Amino acid sequence: MKILVAVKRVPDPNATIKVKPDGTGIVTDNLKYVVNPFCEIAIEEALRIKEKVSGTEVVIVSIGGKVSQEQLRTGLAMGADRAILVLAEQELDSAGVARILEKLVRTENADLVLLGKQAIDDDANQAGQMLAELLGWPQATFASKVELSADQKSATVTREVDGGLEDVSFALPGIVTADLRLNEPRYASLPGIMKARKKELKEIPVADLGIDVSPRLKVLSLASPPKRQAGKVVGSVQELVNLLHTEAKVI
Ligand SMILES: Cc1cc2nc3c(=O)[nH]c(=O)nc-3n(C[C@H](O)[C@H](O)[C@H](O)COP(=O)(O)OP(=O)(O)OC[C@H]3O[C@@H](n4cnc5c(N)ncnc54)[C@H](O)[C@@H]3O)c2cc1C
Repeated sequence: MKILVAVKRVPDPNATIKVKPDGTGIVTDNLKYVVNPFCEIAIEEALRIKEKVSGTEVVIVSIGGKVSQEQLRTGLAMGADRAILVLAEQELDSAGVARILEKLVRTENADLVLLGKQAIDDDANQAGQMLAELLGWPQATFASKVELSADQKSATVTREVDGGLEDVSFALPGIVTADLRLNEPRYASLPGIMKARKKELKEIPVADLGIDVSPRLKVLSLASPPKRQAGKVVGSVQELVNLLHTEAKVI
């Protein structure tokens, strides 16, 4: 089977993000970028399926500038077979991303598409759902477990929903978006990093795809959250419990 995994380059979630004074975006100077953590989980899941189902090919796809090569190399070092980078320097909204992915999924004839449930930069949580709609495929979002049938013709996915877990099943081809507890992504090994250098990383200019990717959504402004108030160091658990009761009045 062929699994396509969408991989987004995002600012490191541990980095301190500063909003530009004019609110038009974030300050990107010296900002470290990583694979979106939920995309890393999606790659890991594809690799686990590949380890179980012989003949599986894992193709990772990123959309963005040349710099996204770095995140694709990380995915290749984890074990993906090959990578595609759709070169797009312009701003894209989730609908644009979904239209690009639709084209690639059709060209590649993928059986399963794995994405992160959301990207931690804009937290849109839309690309997977929009892609499913464009393809007319079933989707299972917020996956915490993915099981394929023995004949690989269907999948059963456990979803994290308010108040518990929901199991859904659908016939492949389909879309799955990964939640935090789906798995613990592996680190790339040194041999994996060496091998990744030789793996195929194909670049396709977005204009070559012949699709309209102009954004339907316009970000008007960004603002930092209000500064947190200074905390208080407590000396014991008992003191903390007392303060939560008497001062914060939350217990
Ligand atoms: C990939 C990813 C997925 C995520 N998914 C989720 C999700 O599903 N749900 C969700 O809620 N969040 C999620 N988060 C957010 C993440 O959990 C937050 O980073 C975290 O909750 C924020 O906590 P913190 O940075 O304050 O640090 P933490 O160290 O985790 O602290 C958490 C809280 O514990 C208390 N605390 C910690 N240390 C002390 C101390 N020494 N003394 C007193 N109190 C202390 C504080 O109240 C603090 O705010 C996700 C983040 C990432 C990167």
